[in-house]
Amino acid sequence: MSVANRTRRQFASDNYAGICPEAWAAMTEANHGHEVSYGNDTWTEEAANLIREVFESDCEVFFVFNGTAANSLSLASLCQSYHSVLCHRLAHVEVAECGAPEFFANGSKVLLLGGENGKIDPTEIHAAVNKRTDIHYPKPRALSLTQATEEGTVYSVDEVKALTDVARHYGLRVHMDGARFANAVAALNVAPKAITWQAGVDVLCFGGTKNGIAIGEAVVFFNREAAREFDYRCKQGGQLASKMRFLSAPWTGVLQEGAWLRHARHANNMAERLEAGLRGMPQIQIAYPVESNVVFARLPKPVVQGMYERGWKFYTHVGEADEARLMCSWDTTPEDVDAFAADLRALTH
Ligand SMILES: *Cc1c(COP(=O)(O)O)cnc(C)c1O
Repeated sequence: MSVANRTRRQFASDNYAGICPEAWAAMTEANHGHEVSYGNDTWTEEAANLIREVFESDCEVFFVFNGTAANSLSLASLCQSYHSVLCHRLAHVEVAECGAPEFFANGSKVLLLGGENGKIDPTEIHAAVNKRTDIHYPKPRALSLTQATEEGTVYSVDEVKALTDVARHYGLRVHMDGARFANAVAALNVAPKAITWQAGVDVLCFGGTKNGIAIGEAVVFFNREAAREFDYRCKQGGQLASKMRFLSAPWTGVLQEGAWLRHARHANNMAERLEAGLRGMPQIQIAYPVESNVVFARLPKPVVQGMYERGWKFYTHVGEADEARLMCSWDTTPEDVDAFAADLRALTH
């Protein structure tokens, strides 16, 4: 692969992007002398405190290596093995975690819900819970929401509340997959607490990787009782970093002066620009409302092929068939967006 191809910014995933300057600077700063290991260091304490400030809550905070672990370990902490987890049929926990939630929860079954634009329709929860109430069926115990969703849409405060109200009604605990939580907060322009604990969320998997951190997600328990012995679960699951400071220090860098929201807002703006560029191009349809940092577009196969031949990378296996997922990152530039749109225009005119 040529260097030019190696360094070109792409639209395949926000995890194609590198480390943002704020996270990098904090890692450099953490790389002096010795520090206590396994999370008993001052960086980890500071990062957890900054997260408590962001959420205005005395929450329990843990740092893990990736989102699959964050989701599956936190869901496991909400469920017994005979329980089930309700989520959207396109949710990451269902389609992109290789059965890890079921594995780490020792068999809790994931049950699928429908809903337009990647969002769960609250009536689907009623249907799923009431479908069977006998002892032969796994007992619903948790509702998992993704914010922003896998399709790039964002639940409003009222939409989150409508879902958690139904969850409470049935005694379900609420998990939020926030791999792109920052993009949702930037899009809604609300306090982080308004779409989490104030809206009935028990545990949030707060994504760092896709928003400019090298490696890692924070698991944030607003329901402290659900966090009991979670440290043991992380250790057993291979998720307790011995050099924890390098997972936690970057969070101090992005949280201290609000870089996490600035980067997310920028990525969202780039998606908005991309959508504007694509709108009105013949043969191209935008698949979902563009509300965060991604555009899903239906492109004819020869156009996809043509774009690949021009060196662009993007996925067509996420979402529904024939949808290209065009993901913007903290470092996507207007020039990247315009160059991509110009190539598409050339192939579709
Ligand atoms: C990327 C992503 C994750 C985390 O995936 P990992 O590859 O395990 O870090 C979780 N949920 C959603 C919605 C994602 O897009």
